[in-house]
Amino acid sequence: MCRLRCWSHLLKGTTIPVLVFTDHANLRYYWEPRKIGPHIAGYLPEREQYNIILEYKPGATNRADALSRRPDYKGPNPINDDVTVWPDHYFCDNHTSIRVFDMDSIGDNLDSRIKLAQYKEQPLLKKWAPTHNLSLLDGIHWYHGTALVVVADNALRRGVISLFHDHVTASHAGITKTLQLITPYYWWPNLKTFVTEYVKGCTTCQMTKVNTHPTHPPMFPITPADNARPFETIAMDFITKLPQSGGFDTILTITDTDCSKVSIFIPCHETIDSEGVALLYLNHVIPHYGIPCKIISDCDVRFISKFSTELCCILKIHQNISMAYHPQTDGASKRTNQTLEQYLRVFCGTQQNNWHAWLPLAQYTKNSWPSATTKKTPYDLLIGYTPQVHQPTRKTTIPSLEQRLSSIEEARKAAQEAQCKAQESWIKEKPRYVPFAVASKVWLEGTNL
Ligand SMILES: [Zn+2]
Repeated sequence: MCRLRCWSHLLKGTTIPVLVFTDHANLRYYWEPRKIGPHIAGYLPEREQYNIILEYKPGATNRADALSRRPDYKGPNPINDDVTVWPDHYFCDNHTSIRVFDMDSIGDNLDSRIKLAQYKEQPLLKKWAPTHNLSLLDGIHWYHGTALVVVADNALRRGVISLFHDHVTASHAGITKTLQLITPYYWWPNLKTFVTEYVKGCTTCQMTKVNTHPTHPPMFPITPADNARPFETIAMDFITKLPQSGGFDTILTITDTDCSKVSIFIPCHETIDSEGVALLYLNHVIPHYGIPCKIISDCDVRFISKFSTELCCILKIHQNISMAYHPQTDGASKRTNQTLEQYLRVFCGTQQNNWHAWLPLAQYTKNSWPSATTKKTPYDLLIGYTPQVHQPTRKTTIPSLEQRLSSIEEARKAAQEAQCKAQESWIKEKPRYVPFAVASKVWLEGTNL
């Protein structure tokens, strides 16, 4: 009563009953009709003011033990009629649905549940002990170092990870951090795999974290055609949004993909249409290399289709140019274009207003760089040598035409083989990608929506 009085301002006359945990065994004594003294009798009217129910908890399980052991509860017990001080309705069954929320008790509960689970799994734990180096640290329970062993119970294991991952103070740490947080306290075989799966499946993490390792679809390289002629298969791309220079703001890049990797840079406008591109091709490429057989591009397929029609129309020929539309999946051309774009961006960055005048030189530089894959410069594969500009002059015996032709052929073959090998390795590099199945749930990145 004394305790209730302390909180009377909160507890008196509530409409919802207040659940009181007590280990006061005397209260159970008064469950039955007893003889009471004036001391206890004095409490009864006061008790009526509280809407309380009592749940008895033995001392060992009651956290507020000390509070209920006050010496002033002892009082005289004169003889009078039996009175039921705490009738039945004041007591309730043990509550399982009501929990006192504080982190200590959650940890405790989890620990005791894990320890309890260990009792049932003694044979398994004994089997694990030698292989996993387990010990009875406190003489009763199994530990791995200082970490309590969690037996094969997925609910318990999820509870452990949830405590160290979902809790506000853990704030959804990554796999490694969550593991680091758990390992001093809990252990089970394949803990790492379990944590990895848990974190990967965590909805909050997936929603909020930036995907730094997006799984790209695998590349589908286009294998070069055997004995391809220069500019037989071409890749076309635009580099747009450049600063104005001589009235141009875009570069059309045309690359010979199957034979030499030679690129041609042509300044143009972002608004250029398929007819314009056809005219540029006619002026810059056809005089040297003729008409292409195949076009690879990630431009709109209709655009490319119109381009080829225009080209054939201008030339008054009936030829079918096959189009390959590869939105970001053609490894070979994408890599070429990436290097190209990177190079041109650096180059145009230093020639902000005058880059169009320097494009021919940029084209020379690009075509005289040896390819990482083929180890040959595009010029070598195209004409058998690299035209010299800044290179120191060396006295060389110029090979005869026949020698040069055979060496070009050899070099092109070797380059094609190297290309195929490199493409195979690109495919092998991407084993993580798993294509989506129909009806599977996916997260959409909102950046570009
Ligand atoms: Zn998470």
